[in-house]
Amino acid sequence: MLAAVAGLVSAVYLLGGLAFIEHRLSELRFRLAQQDAQGDLVLVAIDPQSINGIGVWPWPRRLHAQAVDALLAAGASRVAFDVDFSSISNPLDDGAFAASLEGAAGRVILPAFQQAVRADGGMEMIVSSLPIERFAQHAQLASINIQPDSDGVVRRMPWASEWRGRVLPSLAATLAKRTQRQNGQFPIDFGIRAASIPQIPFIDVLRGYFDPASVAGRTILIGATSVELGDQLAVPIHRSLPGSLVQALAAESLIQHRDLMSVPPLAVVAIILVVALAGGSVLRRVSWRIGLVGLCVFVGVTFALSLLVHKHLGVQFEISPWIAAVMLVGLMEILGRVDQQSVRLLFQSHALSSKDAMMHGIVENSFDGIITLDENGVLESANRSACAMFGLEPNQVPGHHVKALLPALLQGVDDPVGEVLAEGLRVDREPYEAQAARIDGAVFPIEISAARVQLADRSVITMFVRNIEQRKAQEAALEHSALHDPLTDLPNRALFLDRVEQAILGAKRSNDPFVIMLLDLDRFKEINDTLGHSVGDQMLIRIAQRLREHLREADTVARLGGDEFAILLPAVGDLQAAGRYASRILKSLRQPFTLYELTLEVGGSLGIVLYPKHGQHASDLIQRADIAMYAAKRERRGFSIYSAEEDVHSIRRLTLMGELRRAIETDQLTLHFQPKLELCSDTIAGVEGLARWQHPTLGLIAPADFVPLAEQSDAIALLTRCVAGKAIAQIARWQSAGRRTGVAINLSVRNLQDLRLPDLLEDLLRRSKVAADRLTVEVTESAMMVNPERALEILNRLAEIGVTVSIDDFGTGYSSLAYLKDLPARELKIDRRFVDNIARDSGNRRICEATIDLAHNLGLRVIAEGVESLEDLELLRRIGCDSVQGFHIGEPLPPAELEAWLAECDWSLDATPLGLARSNK
Ligand code: C2E
Ligand code: CA
Ligand code: CA
Repeated sequence: MLAAVAGLVSAVYLLGGLAFIEHRLSELRFRLAQQDAQGDLVLVAIDPQSINGIGVWPWPRRLHAQAVDALLAAGASRVAFDVDFSSISNPLDDGAFAASLEGAAGRVILPAFQQAVRADGGMEMIVSSLPIERFAQHAQLASINIQPDSDGVVRRMPWASEWRGRVLPSLAATLAKRTQRQNGQFPIDFGIRAASIPQIPFIDVLRGYFDPASVAGRTILIGATSVELGDQLAVPIHRSLPGSLVQALAAESLIQHRDLMSVPPLAVVAIILVVALAGGSVLRRVSWRIGLVGLCVFVGVTFALSLLVHKHLGVQFEISPWIAAVMLVGLMEILGRVDQQSVRLLFQSHALSSKDAMMHGIVENSFDGIITLDENGVLESANRSACAMFGLEPNQVPGHHVKALLPALLQGVDDPVGEVLAEGLRVDREPYEAQAARIDGAVFPIEISAARVQLADRSVITMFVRNIEQRKAQEAALEHSALHDPLTDLPNRALFLDRVEQAILGAKRSNDPFVIMLLDLDRFKEINDTLGHSVGDQMLIRIAQRLREHLREADTVARLGGDEFAILLPAVGDLQAAGRYASRILKSLRQPFTLYELTLEVGGSLGIVLYPKHGQHASDLIQRADIAMYAAKRERRGFSIYSAEEDVHSIRRLTLMGELRRAIETDQLTLHFQPKLELCSDTIAGVEGLARWQHPTLGLIAPADFVPLAEQSDAIALLTRCVAGKAIAQIARWQSAGRRTGVAINLSVRNLQDLRLPDLLEDLLRRSKVAADRLTVEVTESAMMVNPERALEILNRLAEIGVTVSIDDFGTGYSSLAYLKDLPARELKIDRRFVDNIARDSGNRRICEATIDLAHNLGLRVIAEGVESLEDLELLRRIGCDSVQGFHIGEPLPPAELEAWLAECDWSLDATPLGLARSNK
């Protein structure tokens, strides 16, 4: 193996493949080992100064003759020419020069050279140029032939050249007086400074401007140094030098014995073999790292040795073969040794460094802030997010203390260092939320988790920090919307309950009672139904505003839903104060609202409870306030304080909803009849059927308690059908007894939306064989306003059938009187509010008069309801009212009792078409 390497290197060497390296190495040596010329050789330069000074070219040969004479006269030992004397010039000059040569007696050396000349035919032929015979016979001849290397650079000089069978030593060898060798070349030492060769301009020699001592005993070379003369050669380190200077350097190399040529090729090959084998066996014994170092040392030492040998002994060794051999052996050895493990490690370390870069990138670009601290809580690093979050500049990070970033968290921690710090930061535990501080002091919420990372020599704490400001805001908004009514932004039922529970907790501690009120708006449903939901919504917003105006900081007003509000008054501790408070609220509610150019009024009913008197728990208190509120509503009392008796009623109310439908189906519903007295005839012309619920356990339930419930569900259709059935059955009974008494039933909003209603009634009438005009339907204006077109359609159909339409509760709705003329109504019932105390209340009286006039003008009969005294009855008669109804005439009675009443009372049955006539007492 090693031999193969040696063979390979040898082959490359022998083929000149290492020349390039060798040339670079020898140039380096030339530069590093500079020498001065010895001074025995003096160059008389045909330089620009001389050429200019003499003025003609070529120079007449008598000048050369003069120079030879002058130099020899000055004591020069020999004079050599690097000048072409191969052609004849003019006889005078040639004669003069020949005479000088003759006089010099062989001390002049003339050049012979061979030139490659391109002939006319393109053939290249070698032309030998010798000095002309006339000169040659008196002079020594020397060859100035030069053989450049293949790259055109002159590095060596031949010892001698052959001339037609005769060997001529080279000029350099002649000058150095070393003419014995006839073959081969010697290297020129370009480490000899060209400038150190003494030079005398040719013209100074002619003029005698030189120190004879500088030439005495010395060898003189006369040659061109002027660039214009074109005799330039490519050489190492100088790039180019005039031919005569190269000759001079070559001569100097020989003079100084710096010409020892490299080892012969065979020896080089042998050395290569030795070096390779020795190097290989040494390298095999050491680790590859040491081997690598050893290789470098070997190369360095070899070069240094070659430099020393070159400088001090003038010997130029070729070291490139050895270096190449050792390098190759080393490379093979190392490659063979670098096992898979090392290769893998090499790749792993690369992968690691790229992994490192990746981790760094991830950390730096992480959305979360990532901060590392030392055991003392001093920041070591913070990524971009962390810097942005805390308002830190990257250069402020190192040295900053974590306590400045998390003041709230580490507030109580005296000396946040080591385990205390780790405890404070909850290292290696679940993520948690905390308050952080920016460098400018602004506080913001964060989610943080801290972990300890053990490094080789110490441990660091890593904190992952996330700014949760937005999330918190969103959560707060969500929480707000979960706990507030979207329309009025008041707390909702859930929050109110929570506040009540808080108040209970507070009251338990302080023993202070507090008050809860429940408010239900009166007639709000009407506003909603008649004016639309947007008006209703605006109204609720305005009401919420008014309620808030009455509150103090600690109070809570909430909207429980629909038109129900709740008020918590923690600071109101007795029922009297609560009553005053309630009055104030009701008074402010009664102030008209102006909405969309409408002036609207609402009232409200308030139920009041006192903690702890009326209940221990929030739910009980609210339920009981609700009961009290219903009592207030039913009794039109404004507000009412909870009482246990009323509770009986409301337990009823709460359970009714589910039972009502079953009650209707199981015939728990009865109809009470209230007589209507016709004033012109003083007869009972008809009765109004009013529903009652005969509850098995709760007893008789008034319609105010269950009709609104029925209205909220589909039960109202069932209820109306049941009432209509009972009413028509009653008419039929009276009819078969020969009485023409009519019965009125009440319709509600939902009924006026139900297009099947007319068919239903018609069907009932037909099956009972009852004349349709005996049946009256009472409808309120507001019930008609919800969907007037459909209501009108239904009423028209009923009128067509022959059913009488009566407008109930007139004066409480919002419809205009003008609207009435489009209705197929035959009767108008003035609401009892306007009838109340009419004999004494002039306001009510005027309203009734106007209403009666108007109704008559529209062709409607007028009936006044809620007549409670004879006085009122007589007044109504005087102002033209057609009929009256009320407690003064008769209360609603069950059918059997009505019969008895009719038999006994002042107004007896009369079989006239108008029904009942007043009997004489
Ligand atoms: P309404 O149609 O205005 O019925 C008259 C109400 O006034 C009845 O109350 C009656 O007892 C009461 N009343 C009669 N005379 C006087 C009086 O002189 N002074 C006073 N203060 N009140 C008097 P009731 O029976 O409690 O009915 C209340 C309401 O329930 C009715 O008002 C009616 O709107 C509704 N209602 C009753 N039965 C039905 C029904 O079968 N269907 C529907 N849809 N609603 C019904
Ligand atoms: Ca009625
Ligand atoms: Ca009425």
